Amino acid sequence: MQKLIIGNLKMNLLTIVERERYLESLKKELKGKDLADCKIVLCPPALHLESFIGEIENNDFAVGAQNVFSEERGSFTGEISALMVKNIGSEYVIVGHSERRKYFNETDEVVKVKINSVLTAGLTPICCVGETLEQRHDGKTTDIIISQIHEGLADVPISKIASVVIAYEPVWAVGSDTVPTSDEIMEVRILIKKIFADTFGQPVAEKIRILYGGSVKAATAKQLCIDPGMDGVLVGRESLIPMEFLKIAEIINQNI
Ligand code: PEP
Repeated sequence: MQKLIIGNLKMNLLTIVERERYLESLKKELKGKDLADCKIVLCPPALHLESFIGEIENNDFAVGAQNVFSEERGSFTGEISALMVKNIGSEYVIVGHSERRKYFNETDEVVKVKINSVLTAGLTPICCVGETLEQRHDGKTTDIIISQIHEGLADVPISKIASVVIAYEPVWAVGSDTVPTSDEIMEVRILIKKIFADTFGQPVAEKIRILYGGSVKAATAKQLCIDPGMDGVLVGRESLIPMEFLKIAEIINQNI
């Protein structure tokens, strides 16, 4: 199975010029690189989705949205639906990112309905889970991950569970430069596998893809992804520099 290398560009690329420069640099960096064992996915702001999709050549990368609303259509001013994102040519949607949980009050209940709308539209949800520093210090990491997975995936039909991607993003490692050890990440990976095995059965647990996210850089890709046996990474800041982002992909590709 290919490793997933996801770039979350967040609320960046403020002008058309910036976007075009980014895409030019991305295309240049992709040329001639052997990334056969990786799937590159870029999640730009929604208004750039179409331009990014227009640059895909021979499946050299795929595109995802950073968020969607749970309803499919209608009077929901300012929102975009999973079906709209699908119809424009995207394949993935990030759901439950810690910034959305923190700044937009996204609860596990909201995550649950969004995941269902993403799956119904035929897209792959990347469901972010992870504990805050305080929760880790209080020994609550296991409980938090269990409840985020149980509640967020509560309504997913068993036939679709294996297509959900889980991104373990310790909140304290996102946007900081403090990262967990390989062993700490591996412990959470094993925990997530166990939650899936206990809840949905061993065959689903074997198929589920688990990514790591939080301050991933080329220099830490081995420690944060390869050593703990993760199925890929979710990258924030470093995805804004195509050269650095694809360096991460190359390191992961070479070490498979
Ligand atoms: C993120 O926002 O999902 C993320 C992982 O950010 P960063 O890589 O900047 O920590």
